[in-house]
Amino acid sequence: MVGADGVQSNVRRLVFGDDTRFRRDLGLSVSVFSLPNFLDLDRTGLLYGVPGKTASIYSARGNREAIAMLFFTASPGAGDRYGGVKPGREIVADVFGGEAWYVPRLLQEMWQAMDFYFDTASQVHMDRWSDGRVVLIGDAGYAGGPGGNGTGGAVVAAYILAGELAAAGGDYGTAFARYERLLRHYVAASQKQAASAANFLAPATWKKIHQRNRFFKLLPYLPIQGLIRKLENRTASAIKLPEYLVPPALNAADSTAAIEPL
Ligand SMILES: Cc1cc2nc3c(=O)[nH]c(=O)nc-3n(C[C@H](O)[C@H](O)[C@H](O)COP(=O)(O)OP(=O)(O)OC[C@H]3O[C@@H](n4cnc5c(N)ncnc54)[C@H](O)[C@@H]3O)c2cc1C
Repeated sequence: MVGADGVQSNVRRLVFGDDTRFRRDLGLSVSVFSLPNFLDLDRTGLLYGVPGKTASIYSARGNREAIAMLFFTASPGAGDRYGGVKPGREIVADVFGGEAWYVPRLLQEMWQAMDFYFDTASQVHMDRWSDGRVVLIGDAGYAGGPGGNGTGGAVVAAYILAGELAAAGGDYGTAFARYERLLRHYVAASQKQAASAANFLAPATWKKIHQRNRFFKLLPYLPIQGLIRKLENRTASAIKLPEYLVPPALNAADSTAAIEPL
């Protein structure tokens, strides 16, 4: 059984027990939703920040719509307090109510959004990712949070887990151990990259906000652009993917064919 059910994984809770041992709150709450591109943004975005809060809007889907992202710092454990107590939209409206800029319009749009997302950002750290026949993959086992390499990492992990399961010919214990051994380093680098995201996404002081904003303004003119891409790519590609030999016979109609490691 593969638990691929995200950072709030029920499989993790049911199989590995007390979740507080695994979740590390990053001290940041995040809300994301789409809205009309009412500012006619053209492949660009805008930020508004006050200490501990950032509201942003950027164009998406060929400028046909926009995405709003609202970040605010929250003390560890806030996620538990929010959970079930107050709906996310109300929390965001409370936190950002009274702010200037386009925030009132963003809040107005938030109530209409069909894809409203809200959560406190957290990482998942576990000593092992499997127990018996159950294995965790992606955020369920090792979420990094915003700023990491979670999406690509989850796909890489799926490739390796599938390859190792097939190569082990039914010996899932061996497959799970190899999957974990191959991925541990990769996941750790991604989590490290994401751990300080809160400092950047919702800086705590005016000084830090000015530093971040200056960085964004200068970015198009700095050679550092290439460096940032390089750093991102370095984390994303910091793994040598094993090649699994897939016999031509392996297709949907013949799912029992074996895969041998090269
Ligand atoms: C604000 C934010 C920004 C991010 N930005 C980036 C980014 O720019 N780049 C990046 O690489 N990563 C980013 N990430 C991380 C990335 O989103 C995750 O790492 C990635 O989605 C993990 O994929 P997953 O499949 O493991 O989990 P998820 O994408 O969370 O998928 C789990 C799925 O399981 C479903 N599920 C849960 N329980 C059940 C159940 N009982 N039955 C059926 N289905 C269930 C859920 O509905 C969900 O669809 C960001 C994360 C956040 C919070």
